[in-house]
Amino acid sequence: MNTHAHTPMPDVAVPKEDLRDTDARLKQIVASLPASIIYNPLMTVFAAAPFVFGADSFGHVSWLSIALAVGVQCLTSAATRVIYIANRDKVRDLHKTQRDLLIQQVVYSAGCGTLGWFYWCDGNAVNNIYVALLMVCVLWAGAFTRAAHRQIMTVGTVTASAVFIARFAIAPGTVAHVTAVLTVLWLGYILLMGATARKRVDEMLAVRFANEDLTDALRVARDDALRKRFEAEAANASKTIFLANMSHELRTPLNAILGFSDIIAEQSFGPAIDRYREYARDIHNSGAHLLSLINDLLDVAKIEAGKMEIDPQPLDPLPLLESVRRLMGSRALAKGQTLDFREAENLPPLVADPRAFKQIVLNLVTNAVKYTPNGGHIVVDCGAADDGGFVVTVEDNGPGIRKEKLTKIFKPFSQVDNRYDSNGGGTGLGLALVQGLAQLHGGMASIESEVDIGTKVTVYFPLTPLTLQAQHSALRTAAH
Ligand code: ADP
Repeated sequence: MNTHAHTPMPDVAVPKEDLRDTDARLKQIVASLPASIIYNPLMTVFAAAPFVFGADSFGHVSWLSIALAVGVQCLTSAATRVIYIANRDKVRDLHKTQRDLLIQQVVYSAGCGTLGWFYWCDGNAVNNIYVALLMVCVLWAGAFTRAAHRQIMTVGTVTASAVFIARFAIAPGTVAHVTAVLTVLWLGYILLMGATARKRVDEMLAVRFANEDLTDALRVARDDALRKRFEAEAANASKTIFLANMSHELRTPLNAILGFSDIIAEQSFGPAIDRYREYARDIHNSGAHLLSLINDLLDVAKIEAGKMEIDPQPLDPLPLLESVRRLMGSRALAKGQTLDFREAENLPPLVADPRAFKQIVLNLVTNAVKYTPNGGHIVVDCGAADDGGFVVTVEDNGPGIRKEKLTKIFKPFSQVDNRYDSNGGGTGLGLALVQGLAQLHGGMASIESEVDIGTKVTVYFPLTPLTLQAQHSALRTAAH
């Protein structure tokens, strides 16, 4: 089937490039018209001055001739003004405009040529040279102002010179005839110079078109990038909102799995055979692991979606640190690691959300225990920041992290080797969560690490935590 059957054929088979070129040239000609409209009648008036004040040398030209000369220029100027007004804002139909301008140029140039008739005095050499001078000016000005368009310039200069030559040719005397011949030569020269001037116009237009093309290409690229960004942002927003909303749906069945597998493993309703108990224990462990992953994932999603809410309050960190030690102590012991909790004598006040604070420390200690080899040392330290804020650090002498990986370590899913770590069970969410929670308090997490030496993560809590929600509402109030 011919898929192009309904594609309409373009009316004019003129290449787009040519249309743009013609359009630009015609616009230049139109732009040159106002000067012609004003200066031509004025120039004709001034050109009559020698006949008024120096008639003895320049010849006696009657007032009627002067009035007719000025009148003709006024008429052609008026006609030019009509054409100008019709085309000044926008060239709508290129062919029509081009035709209008050609006709206008013929009329206008013929009008200029009549100067040779009205101001000419037979047998007066000074007068004849003066008129020849006017002719030179007229042709030069015509060629100069219409150089952008070859046809219009040619038509204009040829018409004006033809009217001049006609007058010189019928006049008696050698001066007149020599002037006629010189006018032909002058016309040739003017056409040649006009071609040179047009080359400059060609170059200028080529640069302009190249710029326009570049600007168009840039605009398209920018629009494309903006569109893609909006799409990506929309997709990201819907993803995070979806994840945040999934919390309930994901946790409920998992809690059932955990609860019932625990009942079976503990034989709460009567004995089960050993193998079933083992399976139930496996189900329970896998479920618990899955639940912690889902919790991390949902928390990161909530933070990204701006839906995580915290409740900062004056906090004694010691019981929370103690509970982390109890949770992680046996795991560290199993790996032969020392897990040392230190705190400075005079701890600065801590204002934080208790659950978030515990989650931060727990994530950091879990990482330290997970990634530090057997027999390693882990130190959890609390103290004051330079500005009096609260700082908690977790330091280990584990494998460390390569420099190039450190920059994106706080971004979600930034597992160092970017794949699921089956030993540690890592997903690259722990540090993102730490950073997100710290930032919700108006604080931040930072990391120092050296390969084969160890890793130290520092989390800073400001003295007066301004939660992000509070920052948002403060900004909104300021805006109103
Ligand atoms: P997860 O531990 O779940 O993979 P994290 O965001 O906590 O995610 O950590 C991101 C990555 O940073 C980890 O996969 C690990 O490679 C590296 N990492 C984090 N903490 C340590 C540490 N204490 N020692 C060495 N590497 C670490």
